Amino acid sequence: MKGEFSFDVLIIGSGGAGLTLALKLADVKTRVAVLSKFALTAGSTYYAQGGISAVFDANDSLESHLNDTLDSGAGLCNEEIVKLTVNHGKESIDWLREQGVMFTEEQTLSGETKLHLNREGGHSHRRVVHTADATGKAVSLSLIERAQENAHIELFENHNIIDLITENNRCVGAYVFNSQQQKVETFAAKIIVLASGGASKAYLYSTNPQSSTGDGMAVAWRAGCRVSNLEFMQFHPTCLYHPAGHSFLISEAVRGEGGRLILPDGSAFMQHFDERGELAPRDIVARAIDHEMKKRGLECVYLDISHKPAPFIREHFPNIYQQCLAFDIDITQQPIPVVPAAHYTCGGVLTDSFARTDIENLYAVGEVACTGLHGANRMASNSLLECLVFATRASEDIKQKLPQLTMPKNLPAWDESQVSDSDEEVVVSHNWNELRHFMWDYVGIVRTDKRLHRAMNRVELLKKEIAEYYAHFRVTSDLLELRNLVIVAELIIRCAQQRKESRGLHYTLDYPNLDTSQPAQNTVLTPDNFVNS
Ligand SMILES: Cc1cc2nc3c(=O)[nH]c(=O)nc-3n(C[C@H](O)[C@H](O)[C@H](O)COP(=O)(O)OP(=O)(O)OC[C@H]3O[C@@H](n4cnc5c(N)ncnc54)[C@H](O)[C@@H]3O)c2cc1C
Repeated sequence: MKGEFSFDVLIIGSGGAGLTLALKLADVKTRVAVLSKFALTAGSTYYAQGGISAVFDANDSLESHLNDTLDSGAGLCNEEIVKLTVNHGKESIDWLREQGVMFTEEQTLSGETKLHLNREGGHSHRRVVHTADATGKAVSLSLIERAQENAHIELFENHNIIDLITENNRCVGAYVFNSQQQKVETFAAKIIVLASGGASKAYLYSTNPQSSTGDGMAVAWRAGCRVSNLEFMQFHPTCLYHPAGHSFLISEAVRGEGGRLILPDGSAFMQHFDERGELAPRDIVARAIDHEMKKRGLECVYLDISHKPAPFIREHFPNIYQQCLAFDIDITQQPIPVVPAAHYTCGGVLTDSFARTDIENLYAVGEVACTGLHGANRMASNSLLECLVFATRASEDIKQKLPQLTMPKNLPAWDESQVSDSDEEVVVSHNWNELRHFMWDYVGIVRTDKRLHRAMNRVELLKKEIAEYYAHFRVTSDLLELRNLVIVAELIIRCAQQRKESRGLHYTLDYPNLDTSQPAQNTVLTPDNFVNS
């Protein structure tokens, strides 16, 4: 059929998870396709700054990495999954080095060269392998280069998954919108893997790139997969507040070096929330900023490091200094306007320890998945490690399975006979904005039952409007993202409504304490229970 492609494995996403999997599979001469919604570098992987956690330091141990992760996860991590992940840290870093990733090194006193390790929040040892302050870029570019060289991998940019094609609970392919040529293509595959990243773009402010609209979670849900723990959305406390710079992160190191959070009148406020002040954990700082902004109706607060000598600031924060200067903010002279921003989606498509989902031959790896590693709060730099470990686990399972599978044939063609070009695209842009605003205001850092209820009412209205629009008009990239975002928003709200306690990243004024009357529970949503979704 015209516009139909066949591959052994179809991977949706060209971030750390998708490309690791592609490279591991291509070893056995399997024909692999990798799709990216935009350019190959478009995902969060490219923007990761800090690094990847793994035990290398002689004073560190796997047990310590395990315990730190369990502590961060606030009672909800799956201990077996955490063990499995931390045990594969070193070999994951070794593999990346074999792919050409140059990590920052240092000389020991005896003149040997070893990896330089950073220390980050939640880690009790130096454990973060990094490439200066742009680790993700180094990882992303090396993996893309290796994939481009590999004759068994075909890379498709500007290809946006619309929906999975399933037959009797078995995944056989996907409909994909080729946004460059403005047409829908059908991909048949023996195995399909979602590696499409997180859903932070459901919120008004986010540190994530445009691609993080939770598409993988929405297509998996529509196909019949369970999702889990989506109430645990991690917010970074300080993202630059500027019309042209929403996604730029102001590193925690600025607070670490004495940066103070202040209100527009110049008064500090963190001391009212935590005795550690600006050095309190991320979620506490984010909540304090949110509280002040909501109470006073502020658009942002400020982070001020200008009391430090200018040469010190320029030397310690060259990247932040330059980026802010580009927006006419001289951080040696004036405070930086900041807001908290959605940063990481701890929940996602429920998978087992081989990244298998509820649907046969469908896998999910990376931020799109919920493996049980992060529990109620992700520890810094564990997410790229999760991408590497679970891509490897998936590749092992897929290699065993492939020989028994045949190529699906005669997939139903995409039907455009009932639709026309839209003459009302304003509906899409308006609804995009509305959704991200009410998610920010009502389902953000501090929640209440009432706010969640208000948000759900709006989701119901939007869902109807979007379904109607989708039924009448040809697809566009914006429409596909909106259609997915409204589903993801609904799933986040439903998960948040089910949790009648505050735990980890989920904080509600109606149940401000941990529920200690029963063992910690994961929130699991099953599509069958929500037929109208
Ligand atoms: C600013 C920032 C800093 C971070 N720093 C760190 C850090 O230091 N350490 C750490 O461990 N983690 C960090 N994280 C988190 C980490 O980067 C991500 O969790 C991780 O990179 C996710 O990788 P992934 O492969 O799952 O998805 P991504 O890297 O987000 O890739 C997703 C891919 O899927 C594609 N895609 C999405 N939707 C579709 C669709 N509909 N059709 C086709 N393709 C699609 C995208 O184009 C992209 O190629 C950071 C994140 C951000 C945003």
